[in-house]
Amino acid sequence: MTVTCRRCRSAPAEVQLAYAKLSLCPNCFQEFYVNRVRRTVEEFKMFKPKDKVGVAVSGGKDSMALLHSLKTAFPITNFIALHIDLGIKDYSKHCKEKVEKLAKMLDVELEVFDLESELGFSIDDFRKTIYRRKLCSACGTIKRHLFEVLAERAKTRILATGHNLDDVVATMLNNFFNGNWSQLVRLKPVLKPLMPNQTFKIKPLIKTPEEENLLYCLYSEIPFREVNCPHAHTERLKENKDMLQYLSKGNPGFRHQMLKNFLKLIPILEKAIEKPKLTTCKICGFPSSAEVCAFCKRVEMVRKVKK
Ligand code: SF4
Repeated sequence: MTVTCRRCRSAPAEVQLAYAKLSLCPNCFQEFYVNRVRRTVEEFKMFKPKDKVGVAVSGGKDSMALLHSLKTAFPITNFIALHIDLGIKDYSKHCKEKVEKLAKMLDVELEVFDLESELGFSIDDFRKTIYRRKLCSACGTIKRHLFEVLAERAKTRILATGHNLDDVVATMLNNFFNGNWSQLVRLKPVLKPLMPNQTFKIKPLIKTPEEENLLYCLYSEIPFREVNCPHAHTERLKENKDMLQYLSKGNPGFRHQMLKNFLKLIPILEKAIEKPKLTTCKICGFPSSAEVCAFCKRVEMVRKVKK
């Protein structure tokens, strides 16, 4: 028996959202998705419609859905897509092509940082360093730093990232298990800058389950990368996400409930946690807990092995 969409009551429903007890047709699902992004931005006061907002786009489904939905929800806002070409053989070229295609489709300005031509190395080069077994950790440090650089180039103080509900809850569990309270607090929807000239980091997809980003991309015909990074491997985060999916089968609102309670806990945690003592890196001037920041240390290391 065909189920009819609960919203328009005319088209056949294709998407079942058990946590919201909703069956939707593709059009109503896209509307539902964009409305949730709009409401999340407004609820956490992420930006004002006339602000300039940088959007970190990797080419993956989450960040591509983010850019498209933000542009649809806030048509007068000046969004600028920020992309890092990591120089990963075959993969990075594919990602950049997808990002360029979406930026063109949405008529959004695009700023790219090319690791190889601007800094003289690629993420692949870390295979020759002590990071060969934890390349993603080095890559994460490089990306966090360079998105700040890109935001500065684009003259924006707001940086939107594609972290979804599953990312946040899975990372939250990881940090909780490890007692990593200062990192736990950094998962909040709006993260203030560590130093005055840095960006406010916002997570407009914090209430969006991961699987809905893929559906939104498919229904909205958004280009996104179709290959996986050759360095991606199964991590604790992936195991946590699988566990969340499993628990959500029995209790569809499980992930949302975890997030809701976590958001209530943040102000208490913030008061209890000692703020890290920061100085500025003597090489790049970015905030750092040591004389030389993690980014500059990794750059120095990879350049040495390249020589
Ligand atoms: Fe970087 Fe790892 Fe992601 Fe590849 S999978 S882009 S190495 S963080």
